[in-house]
Amino acid sequence: MKYYDKLIFELSKEGRTGCSLGSSPFAAAGTNPADHFPGQGAERREAEVVPGAAIPENLLRGEAPALPEVSEIDVVRHYTNLSQMNFGVDTGFYPLGSCTMKYNPKINEEIAAIGGFQGLHPLQPACSVQGALEVYYNMDKALSAITGMAGFTFNPCAGAHGELTGLMIMRQYHLLRGDLARTKVIVPDSAHGTNPASAAVCGLEVVVVKSNADGLVDVADLKPLLGPDIAGIMMTNPNTLGLFEKEIGEIAALVHECGGLLYYDGANMNPLIGMVRPGDMGFDILHLNLHKSFSTPHGGGGPGSGPVGVCEKLLPYLPVPKVVKKEDGTFDVVGSSEKAAGQVSGFLGNFGVILRAYAYILMLGKQNVKLVGKYATLGANYIKESLKDCYKLPIPSICKHEFVFDGLVNDGSRKGTDDEREGATTLDVAKRLLDFGFHAPTIYFPLLFHQAIMIEPTETESVETLDAFIEVMRKIAAEAAEDPAILKSAPHNAPITRPDETTAARQPVLKFQDEA
Ligand SMILES: *Cc1c(COP(=O)(O)O)cnc(C)c1O
Repeated sequence: MKYYDKLIFELSKEGRTGCSLGSSPFAAAGTNPADHFPGQGAERREAEVVPGAAIPENLLRGEAPALPEVSEIDVVRHYTNLSQMNFGVDTGFYPLGSCTMKYNPKINEEIAAIGGFQGLHPLQPACSVQGALEVYYNMDKALSAITGMAGFTFNPCAGAHGELTGLMIMRQYHLLRGDLARTKVIVPDSAHGTNPASAAVCGLEVVVVKSNADGLVDVADLKPLLGPDIAGIMMTNPNTLGLFEKEIGEIAALVHECGGLLYYDGANMNPLIGMVRPGDMGFDILHLNLHKSFSTPHGGGGPGSGPVGVCEKLLPYLPVPKVVKKEDGTFDVVGSSEKAAGQVSGFLGNFGVILRAYAYILMLGKQNVKLVGKYATLGANYIKESLKDCYKLPIPSICKHEFVFDGLVNDGSRKGTDDEREGATTLDVAKRLLDFGFHAPTIYFPLLFHQAIMIEPTETESVETLDAFIEVMRKIAAEAAEDPAILKSAPHNAPITRPDETTAARQPVLKFQDEA
């Protein structure tokens, strides 16, 4: 443990301060902020020295908060070092399958930081936020053009949030037509875990359709599931194996014929942007993850934006509020609609994220946006072909933006010999990658394979970065064959090594616990 790995509370020394408030009128009691708290200097409270701070007596603290007392350099080092303990797309290659961790261009941040946007309040009258409303309006048009949909809601703040919204629209459509029997939704066994979860949260029953040996939805398995109780099907295309569902035309016709709707999980739209449109494939409802395909940052659960688009006949069911363009060319917000499905967030969604994605789309333009999917696809196939002799490739066909290995070809296990050792697993490969400065790919997902390693390079990586990654992956495979113990004890130089992930998820300790 390095000396600066301590918690900031452990660095605290009574009376040490990090700043001087000088002769500011707010610091009338002296230059030491600690003076304002009883027990830590003068017997005065902040409220007494801040002019006009009329905080009711019952809301005032009885004693000073137990804040750490540290110097400025303690604070600077503490937080700078903390930031270095994390891994981000700005620090290294992040080939996280199904998550599209692409570079977030800094122009997005500059646009989002423009004062006129940053200082907006959601309750401002429409006439005072015309620019922001125009962004919503133009994004609606841009996303509709990219996806082949008729209109979008920006209500949802994440992909799963979008799925729930989309399914609520699906339900609303059936219910308002008096078609009450449609309570089931079909989900492929390759689906992202959020799909069945969202369906369940929406009160729909999940029916699983199997994949065939090529990793695609098995049409023969689908047919008998279709009937008057089916609300719709949720599909991801390319699916979570990175494969294009070639039978989508037939699947769409079958589902529509039985009265159901098609939902497109567009979280991973990256390979298709500007190339193919879900609307043209027959999908009725979709969500996009602006925080994946459209280059806005994500990780650790937020921030995000999962706008939902629908085809023409479902437009009345889109949740409100909605931005409209009036005849005089100005923009307004429509707050109610008779058939609309319920709202899943306040106001118009996560504006800062939408703005970043808008900057990204405008920066690329109609021509360059088509290159995104091509380069993402090229990068994924390049890695796949370069590593398939050391990692098992269960589905060998050309992939789109991502692909899945099923563990090592030679995991180093010496079954039947005297020094029987357990072979290296996918988890061990992932842990060992950290030692070389790469983020691990997605592992143990999708659930179709026991040792899944799901790799997605994205279009933003150079061939040199891809080569460096390939070299390290080959080195790790050689280590596994030689001496899997190296992998099993990895990572050797990360801030933490192998936490108990189940306990960390089930009983997280999220705040400082003072042992004293
Ligand atoms: C990431 C992802 C989701 C969920 O998106 P969140 O923003 O994390 O809720 C859904 N489906 C697929 C295929 C995804 O990759």
